[in-house]
Amino acid sequence: MRELRFERSGRLAWHERDKPVLLDPGDAIVRPFIAGRCDGDTLPIHRPVSRPLQAGMALGLVDPVVGSICGKIPFRGPFAIGHECVAEIIALGPEVTRLRVGQRVIVPWAVSCGTCSPCRRGLTSKCVTAARGGTLAAYGFGPASGSWGGMVTDEFRVPFAEHMLVPVPAGVPAERVAAASDNLADAWRAVVPPLAAREGGSVLVLGGGAKSIGLYAAGLAVAHGASVVDYVDDSARRRSIAESFGARSVTTQVRPRHQGYDVVVEATSRSSGLRDAVRALAPGGVCTAVGYYLATGTRVPLMHMYATDATLRLGVSHVRAILPSLLEFLHRTGFPAERVTTRTADWDEAPDAYTVRTTKLVLRREPLAQDTVVGEETP
Ligand SMILES: [Zn+2]
Ligand SMILES: [Zn+2]
Repeated sequence: MRELRFERSGRLAWHERDKPVLLDPGDAIVRPFIAGRCDGDTLPIHRPVSRPLQAGMALGLVDPVVGSICGKIPFRGPFAIGHECVAEIIALGPEVTRLRVGQRVIVPWAVSCGTCSPCRRGLTSKCVTAARGGTLAAYGFGPASGSWGGMVTDEFRVPFAEHMLVPVPAGVPAERVAAASDNLADAWRAVVPPLAAREGGSVLVLGGGAKSIGLYAAGLAVAHGASVVDYVDDSARRRSIAESFGARSVTTQVRPRHQGYDVVVEATSRSSGLRDAVRALAPGGVCTAVGYYLATGTRVPLMHMYATDATLRLGVSHVRAILPSLLEFLHRTGFPAERVTTRTADWDEAPDAYTVRTTKLVLRREPLAQDTVVGEETP
């Protein structure tokens, strides 16, 4: 069987690998049929960053934790890529009783056990059982984050399946949850909890870096009752998607019209964007930065934050902990997250499609079974 591997900047290919088997009684084998390309995956694909990152770490300019996630030689190919998918369960270990073969599930990007101390606190992407002393345990990040492989493959193994796999509620189209494993859930944590604590608050999204996350965030903010949602991006295509969700949009040349935002999402993935985002906060506001800020010396206007009583949040998103609320919301409201998908490609075309410069790529192939389950309980 085959899996998609990143070889070097601008080049991916199918490689042969062994068929996965159930190793533990709590395992599942799943067959992905929808796969999203994470915004972060485009970093090594569209830019030859491996050598600059290696040099940056040697000089102390790039944070050494990059090496513990992506390897001492970051993004050294070939490694299996892809960590967003909707899959069908094709085999279950004997200890998995609450799932069944044929069910459609979301597989979170990070592997977690569900029972260790961080997992019980909702920090599922910092699971100590799965990380085994490493920084992260994740699909599609290369060997430094574990031997889990990528999600753009014929089949793959999921440990702790009863905890890890979250069924897609009946009636929710698989295309809608293509990015639930990562980017859609990442947008959720950046907007929904902070907005719930600031009801009817104003929201600013600085987009264009973490391209799909910014758009999901703008849409989710409108859908959760924000009084104002301003979306900033130089891409006309993305601005029109943000507007289709009901956000206002401007280019980076225009100052957003609102004075001080209760919730800001920094999705430019640039340190200058981080500073702009923090400075755009209203008193007591919260900024969640969803990009990568690789430098050891990123400047942050701390005195400004002190004076505005601002909160800056960063960190991996704990998708497994978020998924029940996110899926319940999608099931209840029909929020059209698939509007962010700017390119759909056939599964077989993955090597070429994955290199395309587009906001959100989704790969698809036929599922084995049609989605005919009616009245299934939501997670
Ligand atoms: Zn990702
Ligand atoms: Zn755990």
